[in-house]
Amino acid sequence: MPTSRRLTCQTCRSEEPHEPLTAKERDWLQRQLGNPVADNYYKCVNERPDGTVCLNLRTHGHEKHFRLTKRLPDELE
Ligand SMILES: [Zn+2]
Repeated sequence: MPTSRRLTCQTCRSEEPHEPLTAKERDWLQRQLGNPVADNYYKCVNERPDGTVCLNLRTHGHEKHFRLTKRLPDELE
């Protein structure tokens, strides 16, 4: 099981549980960015009031890693 840790989320605007990306999620991000992706990316797993999971991405060191916020798709092939 991935270890979750509490990090600040730019979308939730608070400190929320984050989990490291799965191999599949890393592949997806790699295709989006067109670059190899380091293993220091985390996704916000906070459940929002509408029942969806935030899935906003950040790196461990930087909350505002992306100039615009980026989130994982709800369903990955
Ligand atoms: Zn969030």
